[in-house]
Amino acid sequence: MNRQTRKTVIAGNWKMNKTPAEAKGLIDAIKAEISGKDTGLCEIIACVPFVDLQTAVEAAKGSAVKIGAQNVHWASSGAFTGEISAAMLKEIGVEYVIIGHSERRQYFGETDITVNSRVKAALESGLKVILCVGELLAEREQGVTAEVVSRQTKIDLLGITEAQMKDIIIAYEPVWAIGTGKTATSDQADEVCGFIRDVLVSLYGKNVAEATTIQYGGSMNAKNAAELLSKINVDGGLIGGASLKADDFAVIIEAALN
Ligand code: PEP
Repeated sequence: MNRQTRKTVIAGNWKMNKTPAEAKGLIDAIKAEISGKDTGLCEIIACVPFVDLQTAVEAAKGSAVKIGAQNVHWASSGAFTGEISAAMLKEIGVEYVIIGHSERRQYFGETDITVNSRVKAALESGLKVILCVGELLAEREQGVTAEVVSRQTKIDLLGITEAQMKDIIIAYEPVWAIGTGKTATSDQADEVCGFIRDVLVSLYGKNVAEATTIQYGGSMNAKNAAELLSKINVDGGLIGGASLKADDFAVIIEAALN
């Protein structure tokens, strides 16, 4: 982390877990865990399923917890059965949206082109974006991690201006580490987050690159968070499994505050 130039962000990705009633319970439990703590140094986000959003926004009111969605459509309205627009999210008080998560790329045909369209639509509606990039295991083993994350970062951010970058967080998520219990070492995480920052330097210059929060995601948990977050280029975490337990999530937040 480098708090001098950028904010630390801990975000939970609940994936397809928790009903609205359970979501209220988990947000209340997270609030209880962080109450009395000075969370000013760390932004805390819970990205919840679409049907939980309204309940979560209500439950998080007056607390440090911000609410995010896990996807958004690129069109503002129209014949897109089953989809949700950025304006719909914005109107109910959602602040963030995850875009380009590897599970969307892997199971739902997401490409860098559609990711880019979603990023633009989200920013234009005033949502902040957590943009996910990361390599497959085969790509790491072939030694093309840098090429892969470079291409993703460049295409996903096509047409995004320097001014809009203040509303973008990048999450480096090696696909082989997501939900597998296999975490990247802190050096591997730092190396690739640093490489993504170099790509941002080439796109936007040093000031924007130094000000952009780059998270690590992939089996981050209560035990390994402090080590991962000790690295200069790791500005926070995008956390799946461990964000579903308030006490584990609180330990990760604590690690980010220290
Ligand atoms: C994620 O869903 O973005 C993620 C990193 O999951 P997990 O922490 O469970 O690996």
